[in-house]
Amino acid sequence: MAKRVKASRIKKNLTYSIIEAAEELGLSIATIRNWIKQGLPIQKDQRPYLIYGSGLREFIARKNKAKKFTLEAGELNCFTCKAGRKPLGNAVIYTPQTAKTGRLSGVCHVCGGKCARIISNTKISEHSQILKIQFSNGSAP
Ligand SMILES: [Zn+2]
Repeated sequence: MAKRVKASRIKKNLTYSIIEAAEELGLSIATIRNWIKQGLPIQKDQRPYLIYGSGLREFIARKNKAKKFTLEAGELNCFTCKAGRKPLGNAVIYTPQTAKTGRLSGVCHVCGGKCARIISNTKISEHSQILKIQFSNGSAP
């Protein structure tokens, strides 16, 4: 999984050379050059090119947002791995949240941390084909 870049190291009101931006973010110069090709705004009338701090932060925020993953069938969102993970033993507990949704929670099979997923209660039977669902109130809804 690609790591998330910490935009908070970049000051909005400063400008950065490609090398400075790479150093500040702990990334390679090639990555920053790629970002420029992908539309990262720069000051083109000067060399070396300068990157606006504000533009850089917005660009990173957009990239991080785009990295949100989608869960496969039988996967829950692991808060530690920050990825879709199968629950240990495929065992989950269903807790109703609203009239139409509920929360599946389990233990990540990779890190042992908590993982969860909100599902529509119309999808319970679909999920129960893969997961062993226990209901928090002890009975089927
Ligand atoms: Zn995990």
